[in-house]
Amino acid sequence: MVRVAFDHGADAVYVGAKGWSRRRAQYEMEDPQIAEAARYARSVGKILRVAFNTLPASSEAPLFLSRTDALYEAGIRDFILTDPGLMMALKNRHPDTILHASVGCTIINVQDALFYKEAGASQVVAECRMDKDTMRKIKEEARVGLEVLVHATTCYTLLGRCTMSSYVRHEHQVDAEGKDHFPGSPNRGGLCYRICLSDWDRVSGAGVLEASGVALPNTAYFLADDIPDLIDLGVDTIKIQGREYSPALVGEMVRFYRELIDACVRDRAGFRMEPWKERMAGIVAGRDAERKEKTAGLIRESLG
Ligand code: SF4
Repeated sequence: MVRVAFDHGADAVYVGAKGWSRRRAQYEMEDPQIAEAARYARSVGKILRVAFNTLPASSEAPLFLSRTDALYEAGIRDFILTDPGLMMALKNRHPDTILHASVGCTIINVQDALFYKEAGASQVVAECRMDKDTMRKIKEEARVGLEVLVHATTCYTLLGRCTMSSYVRHEHQVDAEGKDHFPGSPNRGGLCYRICLSDWDRVSGAGVLEASGVALPNTAYFLADDIPDLIDLGVDTIKIQGREYSPALVGEMVRFYRELIDACVRDRAGFRMEPWKERMAGIVAGRDAERKEKTAGLIRESLG
């Protein structure tokens, strides 16, 4: 999947370090795989960024440092983190690392961006509901790189602050290495079971069932239409979420956005979105079909 993303035009690929990113293990990488992917990235003049974007217990900090030391030794310099303490620790230990603050940081305003900049991040990921005025302010006032997710899975709440999945998966165990595992909490290295996308009952304060099959509003994310505005705002990275999709779909999405962004940058004044919409609709349909299947599986798993 890493090769497919680079070969179809991505400038950078973000991969999850096993046990430390916001997905299940099958979508994360062991260190030798990360090193191999980084070698490939370097060979094509591109960047591999490694995600350690979960919130650790204090007892896990030594594990984090030994993992990142090993990756540093293997030539990795680019990381994406959530925890500000770990950002500072990693930056102090290896000043030439480049740190991004993850979507899990829930950065919603200039003050948040400044906070993570002070912790060592040179770039921050905008929360999925961030409006364009706030993006402009972050660029002007925080003067930090800005990363925006397009084509992302939507959230009912603010993504890094959602605890819904942990209510349906209560397990917790510590492994032999001392790593804490919370399978029901994406913020702690477990999973989002997309509980917000299941059917809800609405119950009155008196406990009376008022409605069943209620869908929570869940509509915020940027699509291709926003890209010209994002470019005008000076957004530094346009990021496509794709770890759970098939490599074929990832390749198709990356190629589409690469070509669209290049066309927009080449001729901003003459750029029109219309000709891109049909191709976009096909990709969205493919993405939604894969995503719907995954979401149904996750919800079944969480309830089963
Ligand atoms: S359960 Fe819904 S709102 Fe919560 S993190 Fe998952 S997708 Fe986002």
